[in-house]
Amino acid sequence: MMRAAVHLPDGGRGPGRHTVVDLDVLELRAAELVLPEATIRDERGGDLFGDGSLVFDHAQGGGPLVSPELDRQARAFGVVNAAYHTQRALRFVAAVLGRPLPHLVVRIGMHDQPRRWGGGHYRLPGQGAQSDPEAVSPAGEVHLGGGAGFVSTHHTQRYFHAPAHNPAIVSHEVGHHLCRHTADFRLNRLRPPQQQTNKKTALDEGTADVFTAVLLGTPDIYGWHRQAVPEGEQRRRKLDRRWTMAHFQGGRDRDPHTDGTVWASACWTARQRVTEAGFDPGRFDSLLLRGLELAGRDGGKGLAEEALRERRHFSRLVAAMVQVDQHLGPVVLGAMAEHGIHLGISNSDLSRAARAGQDRLVDA
Ligand SMILES: [Zn+2]
Repeated sequence: MMRAAVHLPDGGRGPGRHTVVDLDVLELRAAELVLPEATIRDERGGDLFGDGSLVFDHAQGGGPLVSPELDRQARAFGVVNAAYHTQRALRFVAAVLGRPLPHLVVRIGMHDQPRRWGGGHYRLPGQGAQSDPEAVSPAGEVHLGGGAGFVSTHHTQRYFHAPAHNPAIVSHEVGHHLCRHTADFRLNRLRPPQQQTNKKTALDEGTADVFTAVLLGTPDIYGWHRQAVPEGEQRRRKLDRRWTMAHFQGGRDRDPHTDGTVWASACWTARQRVTEAGFDPGRFDSLLLRGLELAGRDGGKGLAEEALRERRHFSRLVAAMVQVDQHLGPVVLGAMAEHGIHLGISNSDLSRAARAGQDRLVDA
């Protein structure tokens, strides 16, 4: 165990509370931390950990306007912070599932040319528009940009938005690793390891968001770096009760993050209903994770279009979830119904029904 300074989620609107915690590290290299469950590396290199300490100031994110020394400090903090949140998320999963996910590689400072990148993504080796030109581990990798732009609030100083400093972005990307190795919404396990698909479904994005909300303890997961986006807009991605199947659009051109807010919100409502019914919220978290695992079981249909279509359906994952914890079944189904999600119905039929219901309400 090493002492490490990180941003600890505090349920607030900032990046978290700068706190010293324990981090389980196997090996310390110049710009890389090797943990039992993941390797975190700053691809821009340099000597970040030469003096053997993992306690750094966040230096307001560093960035292009500060001295090289301050930026080095901010990069070091970013590696440590990303390592901590990756370890925290992966250990949470391993404790619930009783098995570890495959070793995850997290690479920071990626895709910063020709323009700076302030986002993150989860990548598998594959072809097509959303694949990476460079070699990617077949088990999956998280890529984080070096940062772009500043976040400022009325009560905090201007902060350079480096994704590795943002627990929400790190947790969301680890959420995709969870999905890939449990529910496997795109059946990547049946594809050749070098020809997997990176195209995400709404379920994948929504599950990554609700996983983030669980880890951060707030439904306003992007309340820090998207604070300029009104809470009532879907792209804020707040897990709000207003997002129902009536807001689901589907289709190739739709951003799966947007449709994913419906799934994430329904899960968050279910978690609240479970708590209101007198259960520990952890009961819901384990129902979700074990439901993902159950939904991932091979249906024996190979890569047929029908098998892929079924795996996109919210109702299929709900069915798996209520199967793993039948005590919570009625509570979870009731909460899902509040968002227009019912068993045995496709996403498009659910969204049509929800819109029709909404129209009736408007008429009345
Ligand atoms: Zn995502």
